[in-house]
Amino acid sequence: MNDPTISAAMPAGTAGTAATAGSSAPGRRRVLRGALALAGAVALRPLAAAAAPAAGTPTGEAPSAPAAVAVRRFGRYEVLALLDAHGTFPATRQAAFPDATAADWERARRLDPAAFGTGDTWELDFRCYAVRRPGGRVTLVDTGIGPVGSPASGWAPVPGRLPAVLARAGIAPGDVEAVVLTHLHEDHYGWSVTPEGVPVFPNARYLVQRAEVAALGPTRTARTYVVEPLLRAGRLYEADGRTVLSGRARPGGAVTLLPTPGHTPGHQSVLVEGGGERLLVTGDVLVHAVQLASPAVRYAHEADPATARRSREQLLDDARRTGAVLATAHLNRPFVGPWSVAELTR
Ligand SMILES: [Zn+2]
Repeated sequence: MNDPTISAAMPAGTAGTAATAGSSAPGRRRVLRGALALAGAVALRPLAAAAAPAAGTPTGEAPSAPAAVAVRRFGRYEVLALLDAHGTFPATRQAAFPDATAADWERARRLDPAAFGTGDTWELDFRCYAVRRPGGRVTLVDTGIGPVGSPASGWAPVPGRLPAVLARAGIAPGDVEAVVLTHLHEDHYGWSVTPEGVPVFPNARYLVQRAEVAALGPTRTARTYVVEPLLRAGRLYEADGRTVLSGRARPGGAVTLLPTPGHTPGHQSVLVEGGGERLLVTGDVLVHAVQLASPAVRYAHEADPATARRSREQLLDDARRTGAVLATAHLNRPFVGPWSVAELTR
């Protein structure tokens, strides 16, 4: 079977320039090149197949929804938090986090009070991030819940607003040269392709971990809706472990893919280093502040809870040790930190 994607572990510098939309022949082997260089691979242990995505239907827009765009600078990188949508989770928060104690919830409430709606509800944002480099080149991390008719329509508050929010931030679809999908759940890939299967970002390479694609069964919606159209367009690139996307580790800064499996088999996060500071775009390593307050607390829809917990504890240990800022998809605040013990214990 032809594989038009290629691992980041292939030798660098062997490919041509990035193709424009629609110009790539399916089945042609392609190499990540240019700014995308190998930084060393991290072996992923074999994991169980992905669990079904969260069920239910968050609905509605919070009247006090936060600003759609928030910006922080890390050296030469500008990181923009882009709010695609906001909703109420369909299940109670205790059902979503069955092991969380009253003390866990109390600590979580201090970190993200807006997550606590009336009764036992969970209020959550659906957020993407853009990393803008000098010259306006953009790496987009996740693409939200998508338009009406996207796979997230069954439970998420579609349509999301990402295209308008990007425009407000001064980012045109053609400015995006890389789309990092932290994982292949429908609330994270919604604006990757149109319902007709056309890549929304015509100049972008779409980057996902090889283990994430490998774990998808042939009939999974993520495969038919987003993976196969991106393959046909020659736009899907499979990274294999830790991979530097842009820059060097120091002193200029870097953008690096970090495998953080567990929520899904090939889940990845993104580390931005610049100006002596660090930011971690976590994806769904943690989906609620209760998992920030108490990393041992499992989310009911994690594919492999033990591995997810290990990834979460390692990521948060790193953040605590280095004073990293956290950028999460579902907390009701665009940036958390620099993450510190003091924030949890005040
Ligand atoms: Zn999610």
